[in-house]
Amino acid sequence: MMTERLGGRRRQPIIFCDFDGTITQNDNIIAIIRHFNPPGWEALVDEIIGERKSIKEGVGELFRLLPVTLKQEMTDFVIGNASIRAGFQELLDYCRKQEIEFYVTSGGIDFFVYPLLAPYGIPQNHIYCNGSDFSGPQVEITWPHACDDHCHNNCGMCKSTIIRRFPKEQYKRILIGDSVTDFEGAKLADLVFARSHLTTKCTQLGLPHFEYITFHDVIAILKQEENND
Ligand code: MG
Ligand code: ZN
Repeated sequence: MMTERLGGRRRQPIIFCDFDGTITQNDNIIAIIRHFNPPGWEALVDEIIGERKSIKEGVGELFRLLPVTLKQEMTDFVIGNASIRAGFQELLDYCRKQEIEFYVTSGGIDFFVYPLLAPYGIPQNHIYCNGSDFSGPQVEITWPHACDDHCHNNCGMCKSTIIRRFPKEQYKRILIGDSVTDFEGAKLADLVFARSHLTTKCTQLGLPHFEYITFHDVIAILKQEENND
């Protein structure tokens, strides 16, 4: 068991795992927008990347470019094209065995996050993502997990807000991610698994982290940590 003693009390290990580019190999929002190619998306993506628009504003505007009549086609596209990173099922099995709590903290949207995760049996209340409303003419993203008073980034789905609900006195907080949007959460975590842009950001700012390619790498480090405890 990966335990840690703090004033004689065991802290519960808990994983916060990103979805797009972490559980899936690629970013599904970008894949959808690129595939359906509505006029104006490239300028919006540039504004998000250049941080002239928050993720919440930018993603909201991107989906407003798409008519709701594409719902089924978009869902089928993502399910047909997304691939899950190797070792994901094994990581979930390992967490179950070791009593590590596993949460998905995703900036993705419910209409593709839930179907892609359906085969893995993760309870719905352990999956945080954005919502969607297909009742109007254009797709409207809803934001059930927006930033708390401590975060001013207008994240949309605010990972650090979720992580703060699990205090460090009680939980050993572990983050797995791939992008700049995981960095604020990484700063709160005891243990960080990074790839891609998150690795670059952690390296630049001197935040300790382990690099991973597959979830088998993550399991190997978790086992090592367990032996160190
Ligand atoms: Mg990601
Ligand atoms: Zn936030």
